[in-house]
Amino acid sequence: MDKEITYGNDYKYIPATSVDHLIGHEVLPDLFAYTIQIVNIAFVGHPDSQKFVLVDAGMPHSASQIMAITEKRFGENKRPEAIILTHGHFDHVGGIVELVEHWNIPVFAHELELPFLTGQKSYPEPDSTVEGGLVAKMSRMFPIEPVNLGNHIKKLPDDGSVPFMPGFRWIHTPGHSPGHVSFFRDEDRALIAGDAFITVKQDTLYKVFTQKQEINGPPRYLTPDWNAAWDSVKKLATLKPSIAVTGHGLPMEGDILTNSLEKLVNEFDKIAIPDYGKFVN
Ligand SMILES: [Zn+2]
Ligand SMILES: [Zn+2]
Repeated sequence: MDKEITYGNDYKYIPATSVDHLIGHEVLPDLFAYTIQIVNIAFVGHPDSQKFVLVDAGMPHSASQIMAITEKRFGENKRPEAIILTHGHFDHVGGIVELVEHWNIPVFAHELELPFLTGQKSYPEPDSTVEGGLVAKMSRMFPIEPVNLGNHIKKLPDDGSVPFMPGFRWIHTPGHSPGHVSFFRDEDRALIAGDAFITVKQDTLYKVFTQKQEINGPPRYLTPDWNAAWDSVKKLATLKPSIAVTGHGLPMEGDILTNSLEKLVNEFDKIAIPDYGKFVN
């Protein structure tokens, strides 16, 4: 056991859950999305293969659920080659300490996200006054202190490749966080978007609960740089993804995805950027 691996002091269970909690979607034969409360994790790799990775690590206190679904999909005592992070927010690293200790595997993230994953820097306090509903109001209880993954965390390769995810490349999509990345596979145009855009109106508790599908920008209460966030959505839209797994909400594909992304790019100021809040002037 590696003592240097720790959560922040404000680590805690967050009582918010959607109807999709513990429901999985096989988006492609080698891409499986799974919902933990209100956030998605993804497995990349075919169940028949011995090699797969976990993208993101769920809500606080979800490690045992993540281990269970991993073994259910890939077999008893199977473990991923690595955990690949879209970013380091609490709802994407909530089970990571136990997972890294149990599996003894490396974690990869963008260089600019490393301070938030090595105990050096906290995220800005969420804006609980932002235009939006109950989840925005709840966001004041969200953990912001960094996890410390010690020497288990490594930066993503400079050449754009993604370790243990052949065919995928990482795309820097900042705005929601400085080192936020998305993962794209040119061959079939599959996209793992993280929170660069999401398919549910995350700040509204009712919509989070029901997971009503509706494209949106990144979660409002935790997005400090809206101009960068807009640029990131433009970058992803030009890739013309055929299918997208997002950090929150159900997977989206085909014409609905194409049209929704185009609408989001064109009307980002209306759809995504809040009318008021501390991160907008
Ligand atoms: Zn986030
Ligand atoms: Zn998130």
